[in-house]
Amino acid sequence: MVETVKGMGSVKRFGTRYGRTTKYKLAKIEVEQRKKQDCPYCGKAKVRRVSYGIWNCQKCHNTFTARAYNVGKKLTLQERASQLVAEAPEIRTIEGEE
Ligand SMILES: [Zn+2]
Repeated sequence: MVETVKGMGSVKRFGTRYGRTTKYKLAKIEVEQRKKQDCPYCGKAKVRRVSYGIWNCQKCHNTFTARAYNVGKKLTLQERASQLVAEAPEIRTIEGEE
């Protein structure tokens, strides 16, 4: 049984070359980057990728930078703080002493 990835068509341009696994990985990324992303400004799923990390909303005409292959979600202050704590454990120890 052949494993299929949705949107595999975009990597058919490579024909039989470059191997199966790498093409599957690329297919997953290309499916993600080519679909319309959610706009962090107006909330509509109308954002298209212009170039690496550059995105343009077709609804509110905002052009902005984000991640290379998807917009990603905007983190709340609390989420960002918990991420910082995870990166630097010494913050947590100071917090625990109080
Ligand atoms: Zn927008």
